[in-house]
Amino acid sequence: MLEKTYSFTEASKKLDYFIKEKAHSYSKMRNFDFGSSKDNFVSGLSPAITRRILTERHVVNRVLESFSFYAVEKFIQEICWRTYWKGFLEHRPKIWDDYLHDLESLQSQKELQSYEEAVSGCTGIDCFDSWSRELTHKNYLHNHTRMWFASIWIHTLNLPWQLGAELFMEKLYDADPASNTLSWRWVAGIHTQNKNYIASAENIKKFTRGAFYPNGQLNKNAKIIDWENFEPENLDFQNYQKPKNIDYLLIHENNLSLENISDFKYLFIQQNSLQSISRSKNVRAYINKALEDFKNRVTEKYTGKIIPFTFENFRPIQNLIYEKKINEIYSPYPSIGFLKEELIRIGKLKSIRFKFFCNSWDILFWPHAKKGFFKLKKQIKPIITILNQIKLDL
Ligand SMILES: Cc1cc2nc3c(=O)[nH]c(=O)nc-3n(C[C@H](O)[C@H](O)[C@H](O)COP(=O)(O)OP(=O)(O)OC[C@H]3O[C@@H](n4cnc5c(N)ncnc54)[C@H](O)[C@@H]3O)c2cc1C
Repeated sequence: MLEKTYSFTEASKKLDYFIKEKAHSYSKMRNFDFGSSKDNFVSGLSPAITRRILTERHVVNRVLESFSFYAVEKFIQEICWRTYWKGFLEHRPKIWDDYLHDLESLQSQKELQSYEEAVSGCTGIDCFDSWSRELTHKNYLHNHTRMWFASIWIHTLNLPWQLGAELFMEKLYDADPASNTLSWRWVAGIHTQNKNYIASAENIKKFTRGAFYPNGQLNKNAKIIDWENFEPENLDFQNYQKPKNIDYLLIHENNLSLENISDFKYLFIQQNSLQSISRSKNVRAYINKALEDFKNRVTEKYTGKIIPFTFENFRPIQNLIYEKKINEIYSPYPSIGFLKEELIRIGKLKSIRFKFFCNSWDILFWPHAKKGFFKLKKQIKPIITILNQIKLDL
């Protein structure tokens, strides 16, 4: 069950099941959506990977214990798409800023009947309506279905891509600013010049094995939207190395990997899912349980003091900073998105110096995410080899 992957134990069981039952057919079958996770061949691990309940490196290593690299290359590449999108956005923070800015000016369009029909699954296009309800009730959609959904939203229903991306951010268990924003932009045709993604009735029929066939209902001739070039910034990810000893560490909902942790004096753990953004009840519950599961795992393993906090009440952290004269608090880098903005805002407001660190996976891969995916793809095998040869953090 997807919603149970908030627990490290359950997420690990899901990974084991994928390795045993599905991984061998992944590359051939991954584009089919048969309507249930039991029948589909994708892993369903994205909610756990997004929160790093399971890290990308851990998942890849586990898969490689049972298969040769080439037998599961497609799956590893998909894992790396996530890494690529994240690295790509890091190099182009303006894409995220522009998205937030656009969203503000588009809010009034939520009153349009076409928006209301799309969100409630009443457009009259059966497949879209079914996926819209699935999104609301299951908080997950298959990758191919996300592509069809986004394409119909933009090119047939003529709704702004930004409002579709916002809807996904509210409802998906795996909502991730980079993968989501950039995928919506790609479907819209503003990621790659002169290339948008147009869903076709025949393709939907084939990959749902006939469950849906919206013949004559989809716009086949969508126009290319204006494309804007965003030049990559120069970044030095070596500045994000994790120091050997960390006394004061803050853990947040974007990185719940125990591998961030070595002995600490004080560990501040976020207690509730970020309140300042709109999220569905299910998504909040998933994140709250994931934070709780993380706290339980740390408590079992470490003896340092654990201090829960919320973004609405930073007092416990402030008191300790004052009492212990703390100069800086370390934290896993939250990546571009709402959480990073919130941490930076609070840091400024309360005069707290946060020092972010990345794991070796990101430090090694992100420099290759400046341009197209192909450049990063070529680095996958060499980087995995480096990570396995040198004992770097996970
Ligand atoms: C419009 C749109 C919006 C999306 N929004 C998100 C989002 O908010 N968060 C998110 O994690 N993914 C997003 N994706 C990417 C992809 O759909 C999901 O990662 C994937 O469906 C997760 O299901 P899975 O774990 O069963 O995938 P699997 O096929 O089992 O893949 C394994 C892992 O690889 C990664 N992955 C697979 N496909 C992609 C992809 N196309 N892009 C990036 N990473 C991928 C995920 O971490 C996934 O868990 C979006 C795609 C589209 C087209």
